Amino acid sequence: MQLHRPGAPASRPERDAVTPMKPACQQLRNAFCRALATASLLLAAAPVLPGEVSGEPGVDGGEALELTSGAAESRSVESAAVEVVEVDPAYAHVPTIPLADAVAAADGVAEPLELLGSIVPPGSARRLSWTATELFEGVPVSTPVLVVNGATPGPTLCLTAAVHGDELNGIEMVRRVMHELPPLKVSGAVIGVPIVNVQGFRRGSRYLPDRRDLNRYFPGNPNGSAAARIAYSFFTRVIAHCDALVDLHTGSFERANLPQIRADLRNPDVVTLTQGLGSMVILHSKPTVGTLRYAATRAGIPAVTLEAGGPSQLEPNEVKHGARSIETLINSLGMVRRVRLWGDPEPVYYRSTWVRADNGGILFADVSLGSTVRKGDLLGTITDPMSNARSELRSPYSGRIIGMARNQVVMPGFAAFHVGIETDEAPVEELIEALTETEPPRPSDDYVDGMSE
Ligand SMILES: [Zn+2]
Repeated sequence: MQLHRPGAPASRPERDAVTPMKPACQQLRNAFCRALATASLLLAAAPVLPGEVSGEPGVDGGEALELTSGAAESRSVESAAVEVVEVDPAYAHVPTIPLADAVAAADGVAEPLELLGSIVPPGSARRLSWTATELFEGVPVSTPVLVVNGATPGPTLCLTAAVHGDELNGIEMVRRVMHELPPLKVSGAVIGVPIVNVQGFRRGSRYLPDRRDLNRYFPGNPNGSAAARIAYSFFTRVIAHCDALVDLHTGSFERANLPQIRADLRNPDVVTLTQGLGSMVILHSKPTVGTLRYAATRAGIPAVTLEAGGPSQLEPNEVKHGARSIETLINSLGMVRRVRLWGDPEPVYYRSTWVRADNGGILFADVSLGSTVRKGDLLGTITDPMSNARSELRSPYSGRIIGMARNQVVMPGFAAFHVGIETDEAPVEELIEALTETEPPRPSDDYVDGMSE
C-alpha cells in the first residue's frame, strides 16, 4: 500500500523529531514525565537531521552479487570492523501516514504483491524463496519467505527470525503466526522469513561460515564482505518491501532474555509497534549501527527487536509469548479484525545495565528471569573450583532481571545479569540524555559480546 513511497528523496521525516513518549509516560511517575516533557521540547527544537542516505541508486542486490569463493575470509567477528554503509535512496521509505492509521487510511482495492520475482494476488498465501547468492561454496543457498497478501489493503508487516542462526524460538513464532493468518480476513500483507541466516542455522551457529555476525552488516554493501553482500541482498529484495518490521531474537551465548521488546522510543511509529505488541517488557534502546533494526528504521521502516529466551533451544513458553505478542500486534494495527486483544501493559525501562563477573569460576544464579530486585540484592555467586574462593554478584540498582546467563563457567568480565533499571533510580538528566541523543550508539562492549541483538 501507499504507506511509504519507495524511491522518494531520502531525508528523515520531520515528525521523527517529535517525542512519542506520552502513552508510556502515563504509567510512570510525575517527575519522570516532566523530564520527558523537557526532552520533548528539546527534541522539537532540534533541527531535523540532515539527509542520511547516500549511495548509488538502482542496483538490484540479487543481481549485483558476484563473489568468488576466496572472499570467504576467516576472520573473527570480535575483531571485525563495522562497515557503515548508508541506505540506498532507491530503497528508502518516506512514511506519509502514521503506522497506527495505515489500515484506516488505506482505500481502494488490495493490489498484488510483487516480491522476489513472484506475484502474490490479494487474498492468497504463497511460499517464496530468497537466495542471497552463491556464497562460500559456490552453491546457491535459499531460504523460505512466507507471504500472506490480504484481501483488503493495508500496510506490509515483516517478521524476520534467525538472523543469528542458533536463535530458534523466533523460527517457530513465525511459523505459528503465518500459518494461522486467514488471507481473506487480512488487511495489508504479512511477510515472514523464518530463517534469515540459513547457513548459520545449518551449523547451529550464530554466525555466518566466515565467523561474521550478519546483524552487524545491514543495510549491506553489494561490493563488501560476504556478510555485507548477503545483508544487501536481503535488505533490498525483502526488507525494502516492508512498512514495519519485527526482528526476532534470543539471548546469546548461554544467556536467556525475558520476553521483551527493544525499541527506539523516540520514533512515533516504533512506539505504535511497541504499544501493539501487548504484554511485553519494553526496553528503550537506540539501535546499534549495522543491526537490521538500525538499517530498517533508518530507511523509514519502523522496526523493533523482539527478544525471548535463549539460543539453541526451543522454549515453549517463550515461543507462545512471542507468537501471541505478534498476533496481538497484527490485531492492534487493524490488519485482522478479532475482538480478543491481549495483555496488561508491562513496564517500560529506559535504562538497563549488565552486571559482570569480577572473578572467574562457576556461576550459580540466585535470581530467575523476571525477578524484581532491590539495590544490593544478591544476584548470584561465582566459586573458583580450585581455590574454593567465592565471590558475590549484587545488583547495583533496583529493577528487574530482564536477561541472565545460564549457570556455567565464566571468566572475569563475563556479563551475567541484565537489570532493567527502575525509573526513579535513574537521574532525570540521564533520562533526558537517553531520549535526546541523535547519533546511534557506537559499538560497545555489549555489542562486541553479542548481547546487542
Ligand atoms: Zn540475535
